[in-house]
Amino acid sequence: MIVVMKRAASQAEVDHMVQRIEGLGLKARVLCGVERTVIAAIGDDRHTHKESLEIGPGVEEVVPILAPYKMASREARKEPTIIKTGSLEIGGNKLAVIAGPCSVENQEQILASAIAVKAAGATALRGGAFKPRTSPYSFQGLKEEGLKLLAIARETTGLAIVTEVLATEDVPLVARYADVLQIGARNMQNYRLLESAGKSGLPVLLKRGPCATMEELLLAAEYILDAGNPNVMLCERGIRTFEAHTRFTLPLATVPYLHAKTHLPVVVDPSHGTGHTYLVPQMACASVAAGADGLILEVHPDPESAMSDGYQSLNVKQFEDTMRLCRAVAHALGKEI
Ligand code: PEP
Ligand code: MN
Repeated sequence: MIVVMKRAASQAEVDHMVQRIEGLGLKARVLCGVERTVIAAIGDDRHTHKESLEIGPGVEEVVPILAPYKMASREARKEPTIIKTGSLEIGGNKLAVIAGPCSVENQEQILASAIAVKAAGATALRGGAFKPRTSPYSFQGLKEEGLKLLAIARETTGLAIVTEVLATEDVPLVARYADVLQIGARNMQNYRLLESAGKSGLPVLLKRGPCATMEELLLAAEYILDAGNPNVMLCERGIRTFEAHTRFTLPLATVPYLHAKTHLPVVVDPSHGTGHTYLVPQMACASVAAGADGLILEVHPDPESAMSDGYQSLNVKQFEDTMRLCRAVAHALGKEI
C-alpha cells in the first residue's frame, strides 16, 4: 500500500511514518513528488490495518497498490518521472533522442558520430564499449578503451553518454565514464546486475527482453527502484515472434500501455526493433506518435563498414531526415524536440 502524505507534511512527519511502517515489518520507500510525498509500504501487509496508519501525523490517505510492481506503478506516483543528466532530459514534454553507433570502434568513428548526431539534434550519445554478441567470435567491444573514447566524445560535444554494462563486476568501471547505464535485452532479468546498477546512483536505461512480458519488464525495473534508484527509463526494442520479415517485432502499443501503468519514461529502439535501416525512419515517427518520451537510434558515419549492426544503422543524412520527420510528428503532438 502507499501512504500519501498531505501537501504540507513536514520532513519529521515523513520520517515518523517511515518508522511506523518499518515497525510493522514492512519496507518503507519514500517517493518524492513535486506536489507531495508518498511512502510505499512494501511487504506482506495482509495483517496491517490501514486505519492505524491513516491516523498518523501528516497523512492524507492510505491506499492499496494492486500492481505487483509497487514503486514503478502509476498508483504509487501520478506525475511522470523526469530524469535529467547532463544534456539528456527525458520524461517531460521534450522528446529525448539518444543516437550513435552500435559499438564504439575508434576515436575518429565515435567523434564523427557524436558531432553529427549533435548537429542534427540528438540529446545524448549512444555507443557500446561492452557488446553482448550472439557469437563469441564477433567483435566484443573495446571495453575500457571504448569508455575512454566515449568520455572524449562527451568532452568534445557535451552530449551525455549512454552505454551498456554487461556484468555486475563491470558496474563500477562503466559508471566512472557513463551518464546512463544501459542494461541490454539479454540481461533484463539478470537480477544481480539490476541491483548493482540500482546502487550505482546513475540513471538506467532498461531494455525489454525479447521474450519478456510487460509485467516482467516492470518487475525488473522494480529491482532498480528498490535498490534506491528512482531514475529508470524503460525501452521497447522489439520481441521474438514467428514473423521473419524484421529482426524483431516492434509492438508500439506498449508505449501507451506503459504510460497507463507506470510513471517511468518510455524509450523506443526502432533500430533493433526492425533490424533494417529502411524501416527505421517511419518506425521512429510511429514511436513518437505513440507517445514515446525518447528514441534510441543507431547512427554510423559509414554503416557499410560498421563492426556491428551496420544493416540497421542510419547514416548521417538518413538520421537528419529521420529527425526532420520526428520533429514534425512531435510538434503536431505539442511536444518539443
Ligand atoms: C544495443 O543497443 O546495441 C543492443 C545490444 O541492444 P539490445 O540489448 O536491445 O539487443
Ligand atoms: Mn546494436
